[in-house]
Amino acid sequence: MSSENVHKVVIIGAGPAGYTAAIYLSRANIPNLILQGDQPGGQLTITTEVENFPGFPEGIQGPELTDRFRAQAARFGSEIVAQTVRRVDLSRRPFTVWTDGADYRTRSLILATGSTARWLSLPEEEAFHGKGVSACATCDGFFFRGQEIAVVGGGDTALEEAIFLTNFATKVTIVHRRGELRASRIMQERALKNPKIAFAWHSVVKRLVGDAQGSLSAAVLEDVRDGAARELAVTGLFVAIGHTPNTAFLGDQVALDDNGYVVTKPGRTTTSVEGVFACGDVQDHVWRQAITAAGTGCMAALECERWLAAQP
Ligand code: NDP
Repeated sequence: MSSENVHKVVIIGAGPAGYTAAIYLSRANIPNLILQGDQPGGQLTITTEVENFPGFPEGIQGPELTDRFRAQAARFGSEIVAQTVRRVDLSRRPFTVWTDGADYRTRSLILATGSTARWLSLPEEEAFHGKGVSACATCDGFFFRGQEIAVVGGGDTALEEAIFLTNFATKVTIVHRRGELRASRIMQERALKNPKIAFAWHSVVKRLVGDAQGSLSAAVLEDVRDGAARELAVTGLFVAIGHTPNTAFLGDQVALDDNGYVVTKPGRTTTSVEGVFACGDVQDHVWRQAITAAGTGCMAALECERWLAAQP
């Protein structure tokens, strides 16, 4: 299906960033279309209870928060289509966006496709999501008060999460596949001198063990040097082996950084292509929170609105 209709704004991605952009645009009377993608709601759909999004003092489940974002965007007239974008042509305006079943032409584009947490790819891992296995210490650390937990990874995220988790846990074991950390020197020093942090060097997680309720009770580690296995009793396991920004569909048409994140101007949502804006985790590898994604979604809508108003 090809549409001759030229949209004013197409938003790619339906997490907190995309929906917030849609709400602001619709309330400014600017018609907009959201292409939802494979995982509407994004990373919120795999988190446990969200207790740090202001306005929900009792907490709210990630999928329900997403449903509320969607309902709010729909209420003001945003058009929401369940299609995944495969490629775009940003070489001329109007831009073209292709999904599996359709193509769309648009004067401006908001990229809000987020990033995907990398997981360990263990067969039983998904069953433990929300039952001990998490990819976000800021989101879920609070649930592990007084418990022993593990963090997998040796980069800045793993160390930052481990240090943060010592606020709740009695002991945090960092499981790293090498004998040397990738993280910055200062983070290494902080982690190494923290009395609650232990290290399992040269180790990978081979298997996860559950209790009678199906919650995590241990991780089986393997020493990569000699294959020796040992069980580490933990009720929480934070996977911090990096994120992959969802930018493959862009090819090399927008400037990306070395890790594949969209480059935005500092303090702005503008990208290397005029008329293309980016918000949320697709352009942020540091903060990665629903509330910061929503904040930059708002910025993208306001910048897009101003840009459209200035066009002939
Ligand atoms: P990184 O890519 O820097 O680190 C990923 C870590 O996970 C590495 O130690 C890697 O091991 C390990 N790893 C990767 N895949 C696997 C796997 N399959 N099994 C086991 N271990 C695995 O990602 P981060 O998220 O830590 O950081 C991303 C970027 O964000 C970096 O540039 C970082 O500096 C930055 N950052 C900065 C912060 C700050 O300044 N406060 C905070 C957080 C992030 P190996 O080392 O062997 O490759």
